Amino acid sequence: MSRIKQFRQRLFLLHPASLGGIFFLLFIVFLTSTLFEYRYRRLEIEHMMEEEASLLIHALTVGAENAVEGYNGNRTILTGSLLGRLRLLDRLDRQKPLTSRALKDIAGRGGMYRINVFDRTGRRIAWNVPPDHAPSLHHRDPKRELEPILSGRVDSLVLGIRQSVSDRGPRLIAAVARSRGGAIVGNVDASELLELRRSIGAGSLIRKIGAGEAGIDYIIWQDTTAILAATPNVSGADPLLADPVLAAALRARKPTTRMTEFDGRPVFEVVNPFYYRGANVGLLRVGLRTDHFNAAFAKLRNRFFMMLGLLFFGGLALFNLVITRRDRALAAGAYQRVSTFSSSMLTSMADAVLSVNGAGALTLLNAAGERLFGVRADDVLGRSAASLSLELASLFAEAASGEFSVMKREFRCRAGGREHVLEGSFSRISEGQGGAEDWQGTVVVLRDLTEHHAMQERLERQGKLTAMGELASGVAHEIRNPLNAIGLIAQRLDIEFTPKEDEAEFRHLLRTVVSEVHRLNAIIQRFLRFARPPALEVVPTDLAAFAADYRAVLEGEASDKGVAFSLSGAPGTVALIDRDQMQQVLLNIVRNAVEATSRGGAVSVSVSADAGSAVIEVADTGKGTTPDERHRMFNLYFTTKDDGTGMGLSIASQIVQSHGGTIEVNDRPGGGTVFRILVPQAPPSGGDS
Ligand code: ADP
Repeated sequence: MSRIKQFRQRLFLLHPASLGGIFFLLFIVFLTSTLFEYRYRRLEIEHMMEEEASLLIHALTVGAENAVEGYNGNRTILTGSLLGRLRLLDRLDRQKPLTSRALKDIAGRGGMYRINVFDRTGRRIAWNVPPDHAPSLHHRDPKRELEPILSGRVDSLVLGIRQSVSDRGPRLIAAVARSRGGAIVGNVDASELLELRRSIGAGSLIRKIGAGEAGIDYIIWQDTTAILAATPNVSGADPLLADPVLAAALRARKPTTRMTEFDGRPVFEVVNPFYYRGANVGLLRVGLRTDHFNAAFAKLRNRFFMMLGLLFFGGLALFNLVITRRDRALAAGAYQRVSTFSSSMLTSMADAVLSVNGAGALTLLNAAGERLFGVRADDVLGRSAASLSLELASLFAEAASGEFSVMKREFRCRAGGREHVLEGSFSRISEGQGGAEDWQGTVVVLRDLTEHHAMQERLERQGKLTAMGELASGVAHEIRNPLNAIGLIAQRLDIEFTPKEDEAEFRHLLRTVVSEVHRLNAIIQRFLRFARPPALEVVPTDLAAFAADYRAVLEGEASDKGVAFSLSGAPGTVALIDRDQMQQVLLNIVRNAVEATSRGGAVSVSVSADAGSAVIEVADTGKGTTPDERHRMFNLYFTTKDDGTGMGLSIASQIVQSHGGTIEVNDRPGGGTVFRILVPQAPPSGGDS
């Protein structure tokens, strides 16, 4: 079955030229077989007709021979009876010479028409009718004709059948030797004999057969001089020797056939030499109607044209089918290539590609789109774009209603549980001329700029921090010396001077000055530390153990405010960190989390590994942050607290960056904020110190 299917498929995909070749071959085979059959049929019919004609000729020959034989028998009897009567007359003559008077009486009684008696010299000496009526030898010389008898060589002679001079019919004439010398000649009526010959001879047979309906058109019996017998419809015939075919047929001993014309119509003629007792007595030509032949040929011709038509239309239909199938296969192949190409292009694209139809339902989501939105295409196709992102859906609507064909927008949207900065190129999909009525939907290519933006922000922040740090360090240097002088003077005053009155107040004021100088020094110290952070002293550290080491401090921060604290994370996540500095990072972030969280809330710290990074995640159930706050919170001096310095996150960020890491901030689903501290994981060989 599958082979047949394969063959059909191959046949349908044949090149038109090959198909044309096959059809041409088929046509040639068909034509040859038809011509062959035509020839075969023709030969068969010719053979049949030849047989028919041969049979007829045979029958004619046999019939003619029989007729001649019958005629000859009758003629022998008639001749015998005439000779018998003439001999009787001789006996009478011997007794007494016959006179003309006596002969008149005898002729009437003997059934003989004429009786003449000749003497030895051939002179007529007695007769039954006067000499001027002498029929038999009227124009002939009796002496010459009767010579065999008169000379004594024979005693009887048959002179043959001759027409009577008075036109009274044919007569059989014979003579016997006269005992007294001379001859006695007499004749009898031969009309019956000739009539018999006419009625049973070959000519009569030919006429009778020709009148039948046996498919015989004509029969001609002719010799080199004239037509001997023919069917009534034959008026004349070609002289035998003038026609080369007939002349050749006369010499041949077997039948010759040919197609010829008779009365303006085609006939099949069989020509056979006619032999009687071994001697050629002319030619028999039998013309047979070509009706059989014509009918068979017409049938064959009709079949041929019908088959030709079938072959032509069948071929045309198959040709059409093959061309259509071929075109379709080519188009399908091209489409397959294009779609494979475009789908692999879409799959391998780093940018997300989405499309919506006129109704706003998603019709396309590539692999990058699936990753970006954290969904599977099969789950969201056919659903509204709003199921992925409301911002995206509203931009699709804007692109659909806009007049431009390509619209570029940068926007923020939540996708896959994270906030992304995306740049979308929205293009309208239209068919035809691209008019508004041809609009079919919109396709968007989304580029994720989140990382790019974060990087930019980090760089900006870094720049700002550096600048501010330098400024601060300059200012701090300038302030530190006078401040130290103030501090030293205040201390000296406290030690070396004793006021005469209000000493207690004097001491209190001086100590306040000293403590404020200390506070200012601490601030300046922090500035200086920020501007010139101490060199990192990293050691491979298991982060889960590291966090656990500070659990008490962190928990203390939380419990003071009535906030629940939890710590989780299995050991094994190792990073190269400066423990002191990283401790400050952790403390700053946990302290912020606790401050943002109301009593009864919770702060959790968890350690994990994520794609090559060691992650410390600090989540709170606090008030959360606005996008603007998230954007600005790492800026130096940014604070929303009355007593805040706005330095905690700046310092944390600076330390993490110096470890080659980053800090991410996101909303916590269900309220609150999540800080993720990411630092590169240490190679596995490193151990915790
Ligand atoms: P300070 O704590 O002195 O304000 P920081 O740099 O530590 O300075 O923090 C800057 C600002 O970031 C805070 O004032 C606060 O508005 C915001 N912030 C930090 N952590 C959180 C948090 N967990 N939840 C809400 N807002 C926070």
